[in-house]
Amino acid sequence: MNDSHSTLPRKDLFEIPEGLIYLDGNSLGPLPKTVPARVNAMLQAEWGHHLIRGWNLAGWMEQPLSVANRVARLIGAADNTLVLGDTLSIKVYQALSAALTLRPERKVILTDSGNFPSDLYMAQGLIRQLGAGHELRVVDPENVAQEITTDIAAVLLTQVDYRTGRLHDMPELSKRAADANAVMIWDLAHSAGALPVEVEESGCEFAVGCTYKYLNGGPGAPAFIYVRPDVVSEIDPALAGWLGHEAPFAFEPDYRPATSIERFRVGTPPVIQIAALDEALTLWDDVDLHELRKVSVSLCEQFIEEVEARVPQLKLVSPRDALRRGSQVSFAFGEGYAAMQALIERGVIGDFRAPDVMRFGFTPLYIDGADVSRAVVILEEVISQNLWEDPKYKAVGRVT
Ligand SMILES: *Cc1c(COP(=O)(O)O)cnc(C)c1O
Repeated sequence: MNDSHSTLPRKDLFEIPEGLIYLDGNSLGPLPKTVPARVNAMLQAEWGHHLIRGWNLAGWMEQPLSVANRVARLIGAADNTLVLGDTLSIKVYQALSAALTLRPERKVILTDSGNFPSDLYMAQGLIRQLGAGHELRVVDPENVAQEITTDIAAVLLTQVDYRTGRLHDMPELSKRAADANAVMIWDLAHSAGALPVEVEESGCEFAVGCTYKYLNGGPGAPAFIYVRPDVVSEIDPALAGWLGHEAPFAFEPDYRPATSIERFRVGTPPVIQIAALDEALTLWDDVDLHELRKVSVSLCEQFIEEVEARVPQLKLVSPRDALRRGSQVSFAFGEGYAAMQALIERGVIGDFRAPDVMRFGFTPLYIDGADVSRAVVILEEVISQNLWEDPKYKAVGRVT
C-alpha cells in the first residue's frame, strides 16, 4: 500500500486537530481544508453579490444534477441518473413509495433486521399512510436471499450494516430481486466513498445514500437518489414538489413531472451545502476506489488483529471475512458507551451504537496503519486499566 503509485492517504488535505485519530468518518466525514474558502466565496460572491440573480448567474438551480454527476461516478452510475436533495430518510421514502406503485398487485416490503431504523420507520409510516394492507417483512440479514420471493413488491436493503459493518452481496441480491420481479432499492449510506459500487451494473431500480459520511459533505449535506433511467417515466412521484415539475416557472396549477431524473427533486436546493459538497468531492478526482478498498481492508484487518491480541475483553461483532465487511469494524463490550467516552477523551474518536457496540470507521483518505496501532494502544489502556469506570463517562449525550 506504500507503493509509489499510491495516492493514499492524503491527510494534509483535511482539517483534523493535531494528535486526534478520527475513526468516525463513517458517521460524519471531516472538513476538507479547501471547503471554508469555497463556501465563503459562494456566500460573498454569489449570495452576497448576485442575490437572487445567483440562481441563473451561478448555476444554483443546475447543481443538484451537476454535482450529483460527481457522486454518480463514485457509485458506478451514469451521468444524469442521480439527483441531490433533502435527507436520506426522504430519499428512502421517495424510492419506496415509487417502488410500491410499480408493483400494485404485491403488498410486501422485504428488509432486514440490520437496517438503519430510519429506513424501517419511513417504511412503517408509508404503509400507515397508504392504508392498503402493505406489510414490512423484517428478516435476518443472512436469510434475505431466500426470502426474496414472488410476493415481494420491493426489497429495501442497506448494503453495509451500520452497526456490524456486514456487507450484502449487491450484484447477487439485485439479481435475485430481478428474478422475482421485485423492485430493488439499495441504501448506500455506508458504501458511497467506502468501497467500489456498481449501481448500473447491478440492475437495481433505485439507490439512495447520504453525502456527509464517507463523502465529507459536512453536517446536513444533501442526500442522493438514483433511479434506473427506464423506470423514471413510470413513476408519478409521491413528493410532488414544484422543482420536480416539468416547468416549475410556468406555475401551472397541476403537477406534471419532469421527464428526467429531476422529477425526484422536491423543493429549493441547499445551495450552501452543495457548494461544500462540490468542493469536498474534488478530493475524489484521482482516487482509485479499488485501491481505496484494498487499503481499507488492510486497515480493518490490522485493527482486528491488534485488538484481539491486546484487548481480549472486546468481542468482534463484524464479519471476520473482509469480503463480507464494509469499511468499519465493531466490537461488543458491556460498558461500551463509557469506554468509548474514555477513548474519545484520549483522542481516539469512534462511536457507540446501542446496546453494546463500539464502532470504528476506517477511511484511507486520512487514516494510516500508524493511526490504527496508536488507537489500539489507547484502547488497551482504557480497557485494561478500567478507565471507563469513572462516572463522568456514563453521562449519555443526546447524540451518541
Ligand atoms: C446515516 C443513515 C441514514 C440517515 O438519514 P438522514 O435522513 O440523512 O438523517 C439513513 N439510513 C441509513 C442506512 C444511514 O446509514
